[in-house]
Amino acid sequence: MTGERATLPPEVVAAVLGTVRNVIVVADAAGSIAWVNDAFTKASGYAPEEAIGRSMAIMKSGSQDEEFYRAMWQSIRAGNPWKGRLTERHKYGAIYDVEQTVQPVRDASGDLKYFVVVQHSTDAEYQNRSKIDILAGYDRLTGLSNRYRFHKELQRVVADLSESNDEFALVFLDLTGLSKVNDTFGHEYGDRILKLAAERIIARVPQGSIVSRVGGDEFAIIMPPHNDMNHTLAAIRDIIKIISTYGATGSDDITIGMSVGISLYPKDAIDAESLERFADIALQKARRLSSNAYLFFTADMSVETEERITLERDLRRALSSQEFALFIQPQIDIRTRKIIGGETLIRWFHPQRGMIPPLKFIGIAEETGLIVRIGEWCLREALRHWRKLDSIGITLPTISVNLSAAQFQAGNILETAIKALGYEGVPAERLELEITESVLMHDSYSAVDMLKRLSKLHIQLAIDDFGTGYSSLNYLRQFPVNRLKIDKSFVDELLNDGHTEITKAIISLGHSLNMNILAEGVEHETQMTVLEDCGCDSVQGYLIAKPMGFDQFVEFARTYNKQFV
Ligand code: C2E
Ligand code: CA
Ligand code: CA
Repeated sequence: MTGERATLPPEVVAAVLGTVRNVIVVADAAGSIAWVNDAFTKASGYAPEEAIGRSMAIMKSGSQDEEFYRAMWQSIRAGNPWKGRLTERHKYGAIYDVEQTVQPVRDASGDLKYFVVVQHSTDAEYQNRSKIDILAGYDRLTGLSNRYRFHKELQRVVADLSESNDEFALVFLDLTGLSKVNDTFGHEYGDRILKLAAERIIARVPQGSIVSRVGGDEFAIIMPPHNDMNHTLAAIRDIIKIISTYGATGSDDITIGMSVGISLYPKDAIDAESLERFADIALQKARRLSSNAYLFFTADMSVETEERITLERDLRRALSSQEFALFIQPQIDIRTRKIIGGETLIRWFHPQRGMIPPLKFIGIAEETGLIVRIGEWCLREALRHWRKLDSIGITLPTISVNLSAAQFQAGNILETAIKALGYEGVPAERLELEITESVLMHDSYSAVDMLKRLSKLHIQLAIDDFGTGYSSLNYLRQFPVNRLKIDKSFVDELLNDGHTEITKAIISLGHSLNMNILAEGVEHETQMTVLEDCGCDSVQGYLIAKPMGFDQFVEFARTYNKQFV
């Protein structure tokens, strides 16, 4: 036999992958784990069925900062293999060092399909050390029980109680704001806060409680048999109060808070696993409510959460299975009635559920971080639409793309936009980015900086939903804004007393700042007339047209006002 390599039968490949001592993880383009080998389970503690479908982030130890991961992913997404050292975390909390290579795999058309991650332990002691740590069951930083020991304790408590009528509460506590502290002040400072939090929790729990640190910033408390629910509640409120009071970090916008989820034995469940799941469900919901919220598990949460989990799982697949489409809604000049632009709005065509509107999934996409990749797709697709329209004689003055706050925080908008513009060959001034006031309010310092840089490139900026936030036009003066989009709720009020005056004032102030004023959600001819009287420049709404698919938009542009024939 010469030269050519034989193609191995799958069972041989499986045997090879199964025997190698290096950890091998295959992740899909969205970063969800698709396949793992046995060595992975040994090193990380996660069985294949626990890991598959979840994000690679389950192994994050917190030892590398966001910048590290950002640089790594940037290199990988650009199609380059990545090699480096990092510290990972075992399911039960022990940390270990590895040398990692990530190899992007593309399909025939050049799209990224998979990432193959190979890790090799550089920690000679790890096997032994982690075993000791895990078996000892303590968290090094706080001295509390670790996740492993917590599981054991919970099982023991449940088993002990099976003969009695006693009750107890399982409390999951999640600190908020810690990652911001780590990013701003460094990990040592973050560690100090964790230690302090642990001390304060211990000082306030009822006697006999078992407190564990079960994750980076997560604690679990098994609160002992209690006769009076009010005691449990008082203790929880006390903990929340002490942590939020002393959570000030000296910086105005960085405070430590917490979310709390609680399940009760035997009311909610009598087995450890369900109690944990229910406390976690309540915690997830509390997290979405507000800082310092605590919630007891209720049965309807479970349904809601199942629904969310399926939606989240499906959402992870939606990008690679091309279930998204970008609709376009025309924007017209109020006087000439010419089309001055199009706003792109995402639609998800779910294979089983049909069309899912953005308000149902953008929130989940934001919370899971999927928004960054979905947002990149929207940008590319919008520019592709612009280019296609241009090539058939429909040259839109602008095409606008909605940006969510989470995309802003991920911080790569500038590069993404530059890349996409270059790739699709669209002049920067044709792209308009829509951001809401809340983005500017929360993060105004870096926002000004970013917007200025975008504006320097001649990318257009619009403030979306204006009038729903609390910012004043005066405040917006510092941002290089080209367009102000007056929110639909404002337009709906137009014909009511006093609103015409306010609208006039907004419009003239906007004009003095050189902004184009667009009214959104215009549904009636009367609204349009009043808006024109108030000096408004442009409108968008069902009165003109609903958002529509590409072909339909072409049809619309060609017939409406004969501007593009
Ligand atoms: P938005 O940016 O304020 O978009 C305008 C919404 O109002 C769209 O809803 C549009 O279909 C709807 N609309 C337009 N004219 C009228 C009208 O005359 N009457 C009524 N009742 N509604 C009108 P849609 O497409 O469901 O989008 C909802 C929100 O989801 C958007 O609000 C935006 O915040 C978000 N969204 C949509 N697409 C994207 C996207 O690609 N990326 C991001 N980050 N968010 C998006
Ligand atoms: Ca918008
Ligand atoms: Ca809007």
